[in-house]
Amino acid sequence: MNVHDSDRIRRMIQDAGYAEVQRYEDADLVILNTCYVRENAVDRVKGHLGELNRLRREGRVKKVALTGCIGAAEESAALKQTYDIDLVLGTHNTYELAQFVGLPTMQETYTPELPGTEGGHNAFVTIMTGCNYQCSYCIVPTVRGRMICRPMGSVIGEVENLVAGGTGYVTLLGQTVDAWRHGGKRFCDLLEAVSESAPRVWFTTSHPSNMEDRTLRAMGERDTIVKRLHLPVQSGSDRMLKVMHRGYKAERYRRKIEVFREAAPDGTLSTDIIVGHPGETEEDHEQTLRLVEDCAFDSAYIFKFSPRRGTEAASLPGTVPDAVVQRRFLEVLRQVEQNAFTRNQRKVGGEEEIYIRHGSTEDGKAIGETWSGHAVHVNTDAAPGNYVKANIESAGPHVLYAGEPGARV
Ligand code: SF4
Repeated sequence: MNVHDSDRIRRMIQDAGYAEVQRYEDADLVILNTCYVRENAVDRVKGHLGELNRLRREGRVKKVALTGCIGAAEESAALKQTYDIDLVLGTHNTYELAQFVGLPTMQETYTPELPGTEGGHNAFVTIMTGCNYQCSYCIVPTVRGRMICRPMGSVIGEVENLVAGGTGYVTLLGQTVDAWRHGGKRFCDLLEAVSESAPRVWFTTSHPSNMEDRTLRAMGERDTIVKRLHLPVQSGSDRMLKVMHRGYKAERYRRKIEVFREAAPDGTLSTDIIVGHPGETEEDHEQTLRLVEDCAFDSAYIFKFSPRRGTEAASLPGTVPDAVVQRRFLEVLRQVEQNAFTRNQRKVGGEEEIYIRHGSTEDGKAIGETWSGHAVHVNTDAAPGNYVKANIESAGPHVLYAGEPGARV
């Protein structure tokens, strides 16, 4: 989301006649678009602001703006004063930047109408912002506000423009993307419509409580949807899911995964797991390990709990000692990697159509993605956005390795 917001900001200021430079000292205007998920984010931003203040005193930087989640947080007023920032904007009023850089004033209260990514082979399309959940450990609802969904026509219009401009891969974005609702339509309606307009579609991030079986079945049935489901579970223990206010039980999650595996047996499944949330017992951890085994994830982002100021979990009792968190982290990681390795091995020997995401590096290897959502290293000089066909020769826990492509598709 943050990368996408930066992209829109970049396009807006380019429209105002600015060109992008690589070093602060070459810039008239520096915009720090910030993320606030990690505790040390403010410290890092302070480091940049200190440096920018010095450059401004030397007359090398003229203006500084702070945008994004830190701009929406309480600390932003103190930062503005301490570092004499010219403009501070949150996540819902990025459009005010237009006036600041000399563009006509925009009257929007919601940013998606700002210019998006166009012409790139791969584009993000925001369909909703904010979140109506209140997970114990998460700062997002505080800084991004409650859910706002974008009208279907506006999303489809943007997708059609992107495709007409050469985009071959559209990723629908939202904090709880599958919670999208607008004008009597639900996320599966929108996904199906987008899958008819775009040649390749993916979406992230989903919430288990909002995930409908129809969406999972559409992933299996529709050729243009990448069969990669990212569905954060966070814990396998019902007790912890309740403490975290996740709003579902482990059994519901398992049922959703069964539907997905049936709809797209070849597809990839990834998740987020937090280990060591306050109050997590050995039994809770065991239940997470069982769920990991049952769901056989293809990959997982495993986070060691760290208290985030401003969230409920930061003041909960029952801190788990660091050594215990580390052991649990490694146990979950090992379990995920074993499953992923076994599943990846099944792809060896098969031919895959591979979408090139990143062009080849010095060693001649490009990084691509299969329709099943597997990451593949492939020897090709095909440019990003193209497809090649190649045999999978070997596999590790994280990636598949393809031989020389036989054909460009
Ligand atoms: S659903 Fe996601 S974004 Fe919303 S509060 Fe929970 S973790 Fe944060």
